Amino acid sequence: KTIDIASPARTQAILNQYGLRAKKKFGQNFLTDGNILAGIVAAANLTKEDHVVEIGPGIGGLTEYLARAAKDVLAFEIDPDMVKILSETLAPYENVQVLEQDVLEADLKTVLAGAFGDQEAVKVVANLPYYITTPILLALLQADLNWQQLVVMMQKEVADRLSAKPGTKEYGVLTVMLDYYASVSVALKVPAAAFNPAPNVDSAVVSLTPKPAEEPVDEPKQLFSLVKACFAHRRKSLWNNLLQRFGKEEETKAKLTAALAASGIEAGIRAERLTLAEFTNLYKALK
Ligand code: SAM
Repeated sequence: KTIDIASPARTQAILNQYGLRAKKKFGQNFLTDGNILAGIVAAANLTKEDHVVEIGPGIGGLTEYLARAAKDVLAFEIDPDMVKILSETLAPYENVQVLEQDVLEADLKTVLAGAFGDQEAVKVVANLPYYITTPILLALLQADLNWQQLVVMMQKEVADRLSAKPGTKEYGVLTVMLDYYASVSVALKVPAAAFNPAPNVDSAVVSLTPKPAEEPVDEPKQLFSLVKACFAHRRKSLWNNLLQRFGKEEETKAKLTAALAASGIEAGIRAERLTLAEFTNLYKALK
């Protein structure tokens, strides 16, 4: 029986064989715990019908688990050294395709349609490079993909922000943006010891499922731009942040006052108390 790529001994042996170390600049921390890998596959409810997109396959430890459980896997890897390793480690798996590409540069909708067929549903499963967790999440959510589930490992601190409640210090722009697109739950908490090398933060696997926006807007990016402006100075009132964004002319103030009244929001509160629905009402009232 072959030994899993992700086992601690084989991970180290593969890196030694190629004379490589994990690269910090690419956020490389390889999972070496089979229980966690099995937990990720279980959280994604994978079946042999599923098309999986992986971001950052590294040496292929998670990819191997995905290839065994899913129909096929398309993986984006930025590091040519990893792509070389993958051509060897994943050779037994004919249902895996590795693209040497920065996922943030990829035209996801087009690439996925090419790999799996137009409009095919996909699941995204990844142990994310932590230095770009937020941009990757936003790129995935805003790419208009037919996604069924995202199961992604990230630093615990970001996971806490995704599922934060209004009024807490973790609640912010990212929470509100996520709430527009998805329901969020934490599937697994993962200790640093599950990786080689161990990251200096705790990690969590988060499961996102799509939810139709309760109040869809034509230009979600404009809504998020307003949300960002409202959070620009967390300690300041909503009113002050709005003036900062729109200007302090009397006419502007009158318009803002009317919009706040129409959406039932007190000017003196802080953005961290507002729900997505309230931000959406304010956005619509200001349009
Ligand atoms: N999947 C492997 C595992 O679980 O052991 C490795 C995960 S490691 C945390 C993150 C991976 O993402 C690395 O292989 C890294 O080279 C890759 N990566 C970093 N930035 C990337 C980017 N912009 N696009 C695609 N892959 C990237």
